[in-house]
This record gives sequence, structure tokens and C-alpha cells, in this order.
Amino acid sequence: MRLLVIEDEVKLAEYLRKGLTEEGYVVDVAHNGVDGLHLAMEGDYDLLVLDGMLPGIDGLGLLAALRQSKQTPVLMLTARVRVEDRVKGLQGGADDYLVKPFAFSELVARIQVLLRRARPAREPEGATVLGLSDLEMDLLRRKATRAGRRLDLTAKEFTLLALLLRRQGEVLSRTEIAEQVWDINFDSATNVIDVAVRRLRGKLDAPFERTLLHTVRGMGYVLEEREE
Ligand code: CA
Repeated sequence: MRLLVIEDEVKLAEYLRKGLTEEGYVVDVAHNGVDGLHLAMEGDYDLLVLDGMLPGIDGLGLLAALRQSKQTPVLMLTARVRVEDRVKGLQGGADDYLVKPFAFSELVARIQVLLRRARPAREPEGATVLGLSDLEMDLLRRKATRAGRRLDLTAKEFTLLALLLRRQGEVLSRTEIAEQVWDINFDSATNVIDVAVRRLRGKLDAPFERTLLHTVRGMGYVLEEREE
């Protein structure tokens, strides 16, 4: 899941980037309305976190421009407490808003709700619980279990496993995994992926009888149940 944070307070923006990355999201940040709008129009984001008061173009102006062509879910951050300002934001096409200062946990909860609401349109399966054999992942609760035992995964491992599980049976190249999970293009540094997959295997497959995560030589990785 890719998020774009548009926030001119650099410290807050960095705090959000760090926190949301730890939650397993791929996060880009823009510090003014002009850059923010450009990224939002060009990029393929699942959700925008948009500050209301921005230099360049303000939040409402950005939203108006964005809504002419894109329906990306938008969570607005606002210092304004007047009801009419919130109403303006919602009428302007914001999907939700949060008044500053806010608790990080509330931000995450609202992001999850918006993403869940948007998902049916983007992903036909619309599932928040994914499964394969005795592996089960609850994307909203961020919980993965195998044979009923909880897997202790890092945020990246969780994102990686969710990607493989969502596309189960399909061979994913290292390049695609790098782009989807690390938000970077790897040419030579595929070692990072291999190391991460090895770690994930140690938790996902090693303690269990059946292997689910397979290497396809020269191509990449696939998550599937195979007859052994
Ligand atoms: Ca601001």
C-alpha cells in the first residue's frame, strides 16, 4: 500500500513517514502543495494524508484539482476546529479528516478504514483475511498465523508475505517484489530481497512440515501449496 503524506511541517512529516513505514506502508512525502499535487497526479497512491494549510496550493485547492481526475482516498489533517471548515473539506472531496493534534494510533485506524472502504473497487477479492493451506493473514489486525500459531513478523516481512499471499500461485520477480515492498528499483541489489525471503522462510516454513514459499530459479518466488 502506497501512501502520500503532504505536510509542510517537516518534523511532523518525518514523524508520519517513519511511523507509517513501520506500519508496513510505502510512504512518500511532499512538503508543499505544488509538489504534493504533482506527486498525487503522477503517482499511483492508495491514499493521501493531506494537510489543510500548505504553502503553494492549500489543501482544499489541491483537493479540488485532484478530484477533477482522481478518486484517491484523502484523509485531511486540519488545525481548524470550526465546523464549517470541516464541512468544506468533506464537501470538497475529502473522505475523512483529523483535527491536529491527533494520536498516531487514531491516524492509523482511520487510514485502515479508508483503505478498507476503497478496496472493493481496486481489488475485486476485497478480502482483509487471506489464506493458503494452514496459513492465515488478517490484514486489518496485522496478524499472521500458521496452524494457529502466530508468526512474529517485522513490518516488511508482513508486507512481503501479504503480497505473496494475495498473488498466490503467481511467480513474483525480485524486481516486482522490490518495487511493491521496498519502493525501490533493484538492478543489482537483489540480495536484499533474497535475505528478506530467507528470514521470512525461517519463520513461515522452517518450523512446519510443508513448505509454502518456493524459489523459481531465474524467475523469483511463489507462494503455493505443492504436492511433495
Ligand atoms: Ca500546515
